[in-house]
Amino acid sequence: MNDRIAPNTLLRKRVLSLMSVFLLGLAGNASALTVTVSIPPLAGIIAPLLGPADELHVLLKPGVSPHGFQLRPSHVRLLQDSDLVISVGTPVDAWIVKPLQLVNKTPIAMARLPNVERLALRQGGLWEDKHLHSDELTHRKLGSDAHEADNDSVNHSQGNPVENSHLDGHLWMSLYNAKQMVIVVSQQLQAKLPGQKEAIQKRAADWLTRLDKTNLQIMTRLAKVQGEPFLVLHDAFQYFEHHYGLNGVGSIRLNPELAPSLKRVHELRERIKDGHVTCLFKEPQFPEKRITSVVSGLDVKLGSLDPMGTSYVLNKPFMQYDAFLTALSNQFYSCLTKGKVL
Ligand SMILES: [Zn+2]
Repeated sequence: MNDRIAPNTLLRKRVLSLMSVFLLGLAGNASALTVTVSIPPLAGIIAPLLGPADELHVLLKPGVSPHGFQLRPSHVRLLQDSDLVISVGTPVDAWIVKPLQLVNKTPIAMARLPNVERLALRQGGLWEDKHLHSDELTHRKLGSDAHEADNDSVNHSQGNPVENSHLDGHLWMSLYNAKQMVIVVSQQLQAKLPGQKEAIQKRAADWLTRLDKTNLQIMTRLAKVQGEPFLVLHDAFQYFEHHYGLNGVGSIRLNPELAPSLKRVHELRERIKDGHVTCLFKEPQFPEKRITSVVSGLDVKLGSLDPMGTSYVLNKPFMQYDAFLTALSNQFYSCLTKGKVL
């Protein structure tokens, strides 16, 4: 007899629970949210704001580069079912734009936050060459208001200091920008879950305090290697370098998917031969052969930097942002100090 009753009871329970979810939804009283982010570091920035019942999804899987990524239909369904979608809003995750339009959703894009730090793309293989061509000078001066205020290309104010086509899109690499995102997402979560307002505010405050503490630790540590020149595979770390006063001097590739020109390879090799490069950083998302044209036969230390952070953790879709910054700083520190007495 139980065999016959059980399915009915189950069905009734399911209908009841579906109805209650529906009614709760109507009343704006949802108790948990589904949040989807484009790339792992964004998950690392906002995860500490979420409660135990909330769901967090990361579209870009570990070990994959965002440059040249494509979304699948299952991703579009996930976007449709999400209460909140978070993106960088630069060419780095431009692959999320059309699918979001398809499901009629607007993301919280870091690039469109009111107080975001923006730096202009650096051109050429070696950045420190001051003899820029006139068109490159124009690129760098796009944030002219910012130049007057800060005496460099950073701008924390509203407006459009760096035109989007000349913006360095790796905005999450700035701790300042990450904190802006924490503030805005915390407000959105409170609006969507008014019953949990205080808990969310508390999590946000604790998280911001923790980020400030991590920042001070990293600042102290990296102060010891500030002058050391290094090269990177592609220019993904400018915001981090800028924040901690590091001395990046060039990149092998402008677009990590495109091979560098012979001229660029030559310039970089000459620079290494001169002995003015302490370390060259590869990236775990890209095969090692992408740096061999520049380093083969030369004596230069190699380090590894992961702009997604996922290679620093095993079997996890993302790394919490404070640990991510610390891992990056450890990579910088250990490669830039090798053989140096401090
Ligand atoms: Zn990149």
